[in-house]
Amino acid sequence: ACVYDQIKQVREQADLDGLTGLRTRRAFEQDVVAAMERAKQECVPISLVVADIDHFKAVNDVWGHQIGDRAIAQFGEIIKRTVRDCDIAGRIGGEEFALLLPHTDLAGARDLAERLRSALSSNTHSIHQRDVRLSASFGVALKNADDNLATLLMRADRHLYDAKQAGRDQIVSDPAPPSYD
Ligand code: GH3
Ligand code: MG
Ligand code: MG
Repeated sequence: ACVYDQIKQVREQADLDGLTGLRTRRAFEQDVVAAMERAKQECVPISLVVADIDHFKAVNDVWGHQIGDRAIAQFGEIIKRTVRDCDIAGRIGGEEFALLLPHTDLAGARDLAERLRSALSSNTHSIHQRDVRLSASFGVALKNADDNLATLLMRADRHLYDAKQAGRDQIVSDPAPPSYD
């Protein structure tokens, strides 16, 4: 049992990104495929948020790579204290993050993205005695019946791209569904 526990622990460690403690891209994708399958069976909504830190090249250029790394870790902290236990959060690229939110519709996902956005951009982050201002842009998509992870990610990425084009530090999502009241 002890060896088994150790193997399990090593596996779990390998699934986590060293800088943020969030899932690696591979682990994120694995867990998301399983969660999407469950959501389908349970007929509950599920949403995806992607986030990318704004002008991160400039953060590295001005402050140096080490402070850049701390900034990524800081955003990871904000994500970890904002998400619920059942949410699946990963660092899917250098300064890119993704959150899969089970039992969450578009309004709920936008709300979470807004909490992350404002937590990041309303503060000056004190990193190694430097005051660094950070923001991120967000794309939000609600899984529809035909979506798989690839199509859902692609749509969220397209919204993220639009958020960048529109000036960054903002959220773009799928259009809200029509209301019939
Ligand atoms: P945009 O607002 O359009 O996202 O601008 P950007 O500068 O963030 O754009 P881009 O995605 O091209 O640049 C990301 C930069 O992030 C490039 C790369 O050097 C840096 N980066 C990627 N991974 C890491 C990392 O682990 N640590 C640090 N310090 N920098 C990283
Ligand atoms: Mg990027
Ligand atoms: Mg960026």
